[in-house]
Amino acid sequence: MPGLYRIYAQPAASILSATSGFIRQAGFTHSLTPARNCTFACTYCYVPTMRIYGGLKTEDWQRWGQFTTFKENAPALLARAVKPHMLIYCSPLVDPYQPAESEQQLMPHLLEVLLHRPPAVFTIQTRGPLILRDLPLLQELHRRTSLRISFSITTDNDALRRLYEPHCAPISQRLATIERLHSAGLAVHATLAPLLPCDPIRLLDAVLRVTAEPVVGDPLHLRETKRHGATTREQAFRIADHHAHREWFQPEFQARIVEQMKQHAARRGRRFAVGPEGFRWLTFSTNSE
Ligand code: SF4
Repeated sequence: MPGLYRIYAQPAASILSATSGFIRQAGFTHSLTPARNCTFACTYCYVPTMRIYGGLKTEDWQRWGQFTTFKENAPALLARAVKPHMLIYCSPLVDPYQPAESEQQLMPHLLEVLLHRPPAVFTIQTRGPLILRDLPLLQELHRRTSLRISFSITTDNDALRRLYEPHCAPISQRLATIERLHSAGLAVHATLAPLLPCDPIRLLDAVLRVTAEPVVGDPLHLRETKRHGATTREQAFRIADHHAHREWFQPEFQARIVEQMKQHAARRGRRFAVGPEGFRWLTFSTNSE
């Protein structure tokens, strides 16, 4: 995808933020955001709806995904700010393995810092198979602290995936990435969030086959049920209207799907939960379950 986006780099004033809202309810103390604006450009992305509250500038939410601005001094800032008691989520505002990271290569430097100054928990939220580039560093970090990887898969249907997240990797490649991370000994969760139109049982079975950790999920956020804060981007609603998927944006339908998935996971002796209940699993230290 090089050429579809521009990459900028600027010094930032800080790199770790105290958490609030959803991520705080899940138990994280801090978030780490290595760049502003995300070149995956998902049509439903919540971040641009947060505007200045997501630390964005006007051009970020107006041209979401067309460029990204890396925090060029992030490793130096992190070395000064990280503390052993922190439970860090990376990141609520950008995918740390977004397409532009393949050129910028900031994450290896951040992981090197964490190897020398490990926090209590470090959780990487991504959908990027690029994470495999850093596998040796991740394995070393896993030995030194509680490292969790939350890997997003949003549907089992690649035609639907292309409608809603055309710049993300195909589903088969994402499943293969999870399998590779799992077989490398890392604690990897499949995160079915947001739940796009799919066959929910087929999706759940696919991720149960390649993981051992509990499965995390979340339906698309809606103003009807969440009055404030981040919500689904308008572009996703237009796609849903055009392709007759609007039931996936209705609270009662979402609740029925989630219940079916919970029951299906339980029948297989596994756990599936949504919202802060599910995301809380991402804060557990490797020995606390
Ligand atoms: S990967 Fe995450 S942060 Fe990036 S555009 Fe998609 S939903 Fe937004």
